Amino acid sequence: MSTTGGGIRRLLVANRGEIAVRILRAAKALNIETVLACSEADQDSLAARQADAVVVIGPARADRSYLNIDALLKALHDSGADAVHPGYGFLAESAAFADAVEEAGAIFVGPSGDIIRRMGDKAEARRTALAAGVPVVPGSAGEPADIEAAIAAAETVGYPLLIKASAGGGGRGIRLARDAAELAREFPLAQREAQAAFGNGALYLERFIEHARHIEVQILGDGQRAVHLFERECSLQRRRQKLLEEAPSPVLSAAQRETLCASAVRLAESLGYRGAGTLEYLFNEARGEFFFIEMNTRIQVEHPVSEMVTGIDLVQAMLCIAGGEPLRLRQEDIHLLGAAIELRLNAEDPARNFFPSPGTVEQLAWPRGAGIRVDSHLYAGYRVPPYYDSLLAKLIAHGADRIEALARARQALDELRLTGMATTASLHRRLLDEPWVIEARFDTGTLEHWLAEEIPA
Ligand code: ADP
Ligand code: ADP
Ligand code: MG
Repeated sequence: MSTTGGGIRRLLVANRGEIAVRILRAAKALNIETVLACSEADQDSLAARQADAVVVIGPARADRSYLNIDALLKALHDSGADAVHPGYGFLAESAAFADAVEEAGAIFVGPSGDIIRRMGDKAEARRTALAAGVPVVPGSAGEPADIEAAIAAAETVGYPLLIKASAGGGGRGIRLARDAAELAREFPLAQREAQAAFGNGALYLERFIEHARHIEVQILGDGQRAVHLFERECSLQRRRQKLLEEAPSPVLSAAQRETLCASAVRLAESLGYRGAGTLEYLFNEARGEFFFIEMNTRIQVEHPVSEMVTGIDLVQAMLCIAGGEPLRLRQEDIHLLGAAIELRLNAEDPARNFFPSPGTVEQLAWPRGAGIRVDSHLYAGYRVPPYYDSLLAKLIAHGADRIEALARARQALDELRLTGMATTASLHRRLLDEPWVIEARFDTGTLEHWLAEEIPA
């Protein structure tokens, strides 16, 4: 991928932070002109400095800027851009936004509004996976409308179960119920919360799978054909949000990897999927069983680990596909090279229960050396605005194998100098010395249990 971005001439980047910088880099590599749509609070951001042009779309509050479809359509029109990359979060999985961009005659870098609608609704995505022969976590067939219907559905789902918002994401909108009494208590609260947070109160039930690993498959499709870029292991989570991710999963056999990745390609092709996407699964290690949980119809935060182990630039691929080029990659040309680990550095203080700690970057020196990559929007003197996501940087280490990737990640953290705010770097440094991390003995609950015991109050 080096010559052109297919049909895209000028790209509007409708996002902020590290992913805006990441998208600008891919566009520049393809000789695509760039326009950044940003809020008033982000006018001095690194992305604003790097873009060819900047359009201020509204005040700091996301609902009046990054989530404001009308403001973005106006920026699209005024800037003369012919395509929009939504990044992740904000409007990345808004079918209404994808439709509006296309109706305005521009390209939405991602799948069609119809596919986003279908897979962004998590209950509908489960039905689609089942129809494609992909196993899902046992759950309610539909979306129970009230407590009585939920309790009836729970009879077949079984306890403990999770109440999930159909429109949920980012680890939010999920509640645990251990019995019918708890379900009756939590269901209306979950309904109200989902309505307020996602503008949609629909809920579904899913059996709670204890001691599962979160393993997800990266795919790329052009509407006709799809390929996979292997899997990522994302079991190290806090509050159902990923903190450290790696590729490949350290526990899959070659045969399990093949089965899992083939199921993801089958599902993507059954949809006629276009763009980059991720199919998330829970893996029961003891029984070797996979269950689909959801699809993210966008680029993901942890995409760099897949790029490091395959040598494929996913964001450039997205731009080429969106520009109308057929997928050039063949499955047999995609190989797994070594192992990669990503550490999310958030502006949160691990010693104070992850209390947000935005501030001004004082000293900043990124780690260097073989196999090290840093994706970040920070610069010395930058004031981290308090309004948005706490992600400051992603530190990625690649090695010939997992041992080397871990060693490089440790060294990278030791070289890192970032002062002015508390970050999760200190936590990562401790984690990388833990035997259960080194030996990859963990599931989605392990990190929280460890935090409850290790981090002093
Ligand atoms: P990833 O696997 O890429 O981390 P997440 O689901 O954690 O995926 O989402 C990535 C980003 O998008 C996070 O900043 C998260 O808060 C945000 N996000 C995802 N889905 C939603 C949603 N439905 N509503 C609000 N924010 C979301
Ligand atoms: P989101 O859209 O917020 O990313 P997911 O459905 O992907 O929501 O779930 C987020 C996380 O919650 C998963 O990575 C996993 O750790 C946990 N989880 C989700 N579903 C289940 C389940 N059925 N059993 C156990 N844990 C689950
Ligand atoms: Mg998820």
